[in-house]
Formats: sequence, C-alpha cells, structure tokens
Amino acid sequence: MEKQQYIERAESVLYKTYNRFPVVFDHGEGVSLFDNEGNEYLDFGAGIAVMGLGYHYPGFDEAVKAQVDKLCHISNLFYSTPMIEAGEKLLKASQMERVFFTNSGTEAIEGALKIAKRHAYNKGMAPDYEIIAMKNSFHGRSLGALSVTGNDHYQEPFAPLIPNIKFAKFNDLESVKALWSEKTCAVLMETIQGEGGIYPAAPEFLAGVRALCDEQGALLMLDEIQCGMGRSGSMFAWQGYGVKPDVMTVAKALGNGVPVGAFLACGEAAAAMVPGDHGSTYGGNPLVCAAAAKVLDIFEEDDVIGHVSEVGEYLWEKLEQLAESEPHVVAHRGKALIQGLEFDCPVAPIVKNALLEQRMVLISAGTNVIRFVPPLVIQEEDVDEMIARLGRAIAAVG
Ligand SMILES: *Cc1c(COP(=O)(O)O)cnc(C)c1O
Repeated sequence: MEKQQYIERAESVLYKTYNRFPVVFDHGEGVSLFDNEGNEYLDFGAGIAVMGLGYHYPGFDEAVKAQVDKLCHISNLFYSTPMIEAGEKLLKASQMERVFFTNSGTEAIEGALKIAKRHAYNKGMAPDYEIIAMKNSFHGRSLGALSVTGNDHYQEPFAPLIPNIKFAKFNDLESVKALWSEKTCAVLMETIQGEGGIYPAAPEFLAGVRALCDEQGALLMLDEIQCGMGRSGSMFAWQGYGVKPDVMTVAKALGNGVPVGAFLACGEAAAAMVPGDHGSTYGGNPLVCAAAAKVLDIFEEDDVIGHVSEVGEYLWEKLEQLAESEPHVVAHRGKALIQGLEFDCPVAPIVKNALLEQRMVLISAGTNVIRFVPPLVIQEEDVDEMIARLGRAIAAVG
C-alpha cells in the first residue's frame, strides 16, 4: 500500500494530539530504521531516548520472546521471577532500597508525588504542604505529572491542577531558597532537563538543593526518565554528581522499547507508603520485567556505559566543531549521549529536511534546540555520518 494511504487511514482513526512526520516506519536494525518503501534512516532520536540498545541487540529479542512463551501477565497479587530479578538488578544499579514498577514515565512521577505526600502526611505536616518543582521542566502528561511540569502552555488548558506546587528557576539556588518554607515537603527536578532544551544541573545547584532538603527533612526527587540508563555517561546522571536523591524515577530506556518504568526510593521515603496506598494492574508484569532485567544484564556484561563515555566525548567534539562553524548555533549543552544544539531560530525545518531528504531521524527539544539522544550503541562513524547529513540539512534550509 502507498505511504499516503497509510497516512490517510491513520489520520481518520487516531485522536489528533500529534502532528506526525509523513513517514511510515516498518522495521529497524542496529541504529537504522527502515520505512515501508525500503528507505534506510540513521536514527539519532532512538524513539525519544528509549531504544538505548538500538534495534535487535544480540540476546535482547530472544529474552523477550522466551518470556512471551512462558507468561506475560499475572497481576500484582502474586510473585514472579522476572520482577524479582529486574528489581534486584535495578536496586543494585541505582543504590536505592525499594522499587515499584510502572508502565510509563508519567506514572513513575505519580508514584514519586504520592511518596512525597505520604511522607509529609506521616510526619504530621498540615495538608497544605508544598512541593518545589522547576521552571522549564517536563515530567509527563498525566494530571499529577502535568502539575509539576513547569510549562504554562502544557498546563493552561487543564487547570486547575494539583495545588501547592511552586516553580523555582533551574540552576538558581537562590530561587529555591526564596520559595522555601516550613511547608516544603519535597523538591522534584530532572538531573538533566530534557524536553526543556538539554540543561544539565549545575553541580553546586544539585548539591545546594540536597543540603537544603537535608536541613529541612524534605525529600529530593530526581527524574532520571530521560537522562538515566547510561545516557549521561553514568548509569544514572546523579551518580556523576555524587549527590544521591531520596526518590528517583526511571522509564524510557529501561525496557528498550517494552513499556516499563519505575520509581525507586531509599531511607524514610522507601517506607513512606504502605499496602493499599498504590497499585497497578499491569505494572512490572513478567513480560516487561524480563525485558528490563535483560537490558540491565547487557549494560553490565557489555560495559555499555564505558562505550557511552567514549562515543559521547567524540559526539561532543564533533558538535563543538559544528557549533563553531555554524553562525546560527548559539549554544551547545549536555553530557555524553544527551546533548543539544541551540539555534537562533526554530529548528523544525532542519529536522524535517534531515528526515525527508537526508534520511536521518533527529528530534527537537522546544522550538530552537536539536536534541541528540541516539541509541547508546552508536559508533564514531555513525557520529561522522550524522554530522555530514546535519550539515547538508542546515545548508538546504539556509
Ligand atoms: C519522557 C519523560 C517523562 C514522561 O514519560 P512517559 O513515558 O512519556 O510518560 C517524564 N520525565 C521526563 C524527564 C521525560 O523525559
């Protein structure tokens, strides 16, 4: 069937919340995607930082298929071995004490918010306690996650949202202090802001917020959904700062395309909720946990993070050169395989040309930033190829 016919069928059935690019993808291999007409695309978007291991990483499909043949779902009324294994491996990698598996990132944030509220309630705080989140942040689309997402455009049509959320300026410790009161029960932020345009937390900011939380008995909650799972060159980005959160969230690359997320906690936060406080029918079922356990095994056995550090440094050099030679680039930010180039103009035309003419998947973050979140398994020659195609896309757009 013709591409256009597929697109028309899609547009006549799907709820219109997305403006999709006119490409119908069919299959993937390594760091390439193929459309229904057989064209190959270099993938530097990884399904929005999800396909950390790329497509068909050795052993991954086999592990998922084996679990399909055994058991996909039992509910959380019972135990299963994949959940135990995925849980143990994730705790080991994260240095946390407890994990709850979710179906998405936004649900992991919901869980973190419920821990913050339950922890405050347990301490006997008045119910008007407050959570400090960050401007320019992104935590997801459910109403709770939207309440802590510092983006008026996303929030406005759905107001009123959860009350008592205050927004500080990211990387501005004084703005956090200015909002602080005895009502503050938690601070939530991305360790590296993703959707907002790839802004890493400044080390002194993260350490300063940690110290404030410690002084006041508030929880530090770090959203690692995009920057976690090795992408920053550490398993979780906070590990590269030496600042440990009380609560953290993970999703995106955890299942390498199988939908699974988690919220994790340590210390008091690890025991704040009790049986009956939270649940999920699908959450952490054997299928998704078999995928997550395999991903975590591969990370360890194949030193994925060592590779990310090396190729991430190479990507940094190449983007730095491009930033210097391209007058429309005004900033270059990020770490390892989560980097961004900020332009002095909207990047949508470049992204579209890259896709349709250069056959390369790039994604933006906000209007003016191209975000580079490729599969973690890219090689230096893929970086070179990306830079060449991006150069042509920029030139074509003019
Ligand atoms: C993608 C993302 C989310 C939301 O995850 P979903 O799986 O889309 O619900 C939350 N926080 C951050 C930092 C993200 O990048």
